[in-house]
Amino acid sequence: MAYSIILDAGHGGSDPGAVYNGRQEKDDALRLALAVGEILQNHGIDVEYTRTTDVFETPLQKAMEANQSGADLFLSIHRNSFPTDNEVSGVETLIYDLSGLKYQMAQDINDQLEAVGFVNLGVKERPNLVVLRRTNMPALLVEAGFINSEVDNQLFDENFQDIAQAIAAGVLDTLDSQGIVKDEDYRVQVGAFRNRRYAERLLNELLEEGFPAYLASRLSAFYERAGMMQTLNGETGSVSIIGAVSPQGGDFSEPVTQNTKRFVRCFWGLDKSLAYSRHFPAIHWLSSYSEYLNDLSGWYADHVSPKFVDYRNRMMALLNQESSLMEIVKLIGGDVLPDDQKLVLEIAKVIRLGFLQQNAFHKDDTCVSMEKQFKMMDVILYLYKTARNLVAMGQPMSVLKAEGIFEKVIAIKYDVANDNLQLLDLYKKDIDDFYNRVIAKNA
Ligand SMILES: [Zn+2]
Repeated sequence: MAYSIILDAGHGGSDPGAVYNGRQEKDDALRLALAVGEILQNHGIDVEYTRTTDVFETPLQKAMEANQSGADLFLSIHRNSFPTDNEVSGVETLIYDLSGLKYQMAQDINDQLEAVGFVNLGVKERPNLVVLRRTNMPALLVEAGFINSEVDNQLFDENFQDIAQAIAAGVLDTLDSQGIVKDEDYRVQVGAFRNRRYAERLLNELLEEGFPAYLASRLSAFYERAGMMQTLNGETGSVSIIGAVSPQGGDFSEPVTQNTKRFVRCFWGLDKSLAYSRHFPAIHWLSSYSEYLNDLSGWYADHVSPKFVDYRNRMMALLNQESSLMEIVKLIGGDVLPDDQKLVLEIAKVIRLGFLQQNAFHKDDTCVSMEKQFKMMDVILYLYKTARNLVAMGQPMSVLKAEGIFEKVIAIKYDVANDNLQLLDLYKKDIDDFYNRVIAKNA
């Protein structure tokens, strides 16, 4: 028979427990008890609760209920309180006396909570507490931080799941070390050290590489559900999964992002600096990618244009060139660049502002047909070709820019209504006129 634990969320109903600025102990306790219970259940423990809703029972009723359930362990979850606000913070675990399984478990739980960031106030003997005295099984009462400590409340709110995990881990570690419950995980040792510092260094290295190793398999198990499938009525369909990963500080090198990128074939990298500069969608063209381009190129050729993928690749190449030129510009400024490189920067700007940037509040730009997109690419690349010819003939960029043609092409998406695409053809004529004007003026 599975090991069984009865979880008791402290207080409830008409008894709020400790209260601080409207925050009630009974609510925190219930939320945490349910979270701990779920984790324990996932590790094969039979979990019961004295309450799963906001109801009142006396501590004696709770103890009697636990005895009747025949559970192997009683674990009560509370938040602490101190007479003066924000004076004391930390966790403590209360037990009837300092002996046996409950004593070891209390220490294990405190150690785990300390690792989350709490001050460890230790294990305390409380022989007079009803839920500890009147229960027949080993009983513990965890005070998960002080409810009238801002420090503890912040920890509680920001690391809630880690705290639930810590309490569950403390319970499971003790049961595991006593041989009472064997966890299903197979553990592999990767090192043993006399010096704690070396052990911590290896641990950090492993964490950086995405260990514990189940992270990758959990993620792949999720994303592998996408793809072709058969519906219940025998037809074929497909499931697409669009996942959102929000790493702290936008740091894509952390394990969840890295492992997610191993399994997904298309990635949109949302970029903070683009968002700040009001470039929306803030999807960065260099960090984003799709491995479906080859699979889709046949479709683009049939439905848009045989030149579509080629145009796309040429625009990507220009954006890549821009990125490496910007490194130089940042160091020594843009004035020293030769005119053909200044032109690359100018055209990349046209691509970014005229093509990639999109305004969801503009009636034409909110939804743009593939046909219009293709024709815009065609115009932009035609402008590049024409301007490059002029630069090759020795025309300086300052002269080219004075003609205002770059701004005109940037505005193309607004100036050409979606139902009036033939206007796009006139742009090539404008570009030809621009060419002739520059030649005539500077002949
Ligand atoms: Zn309490």
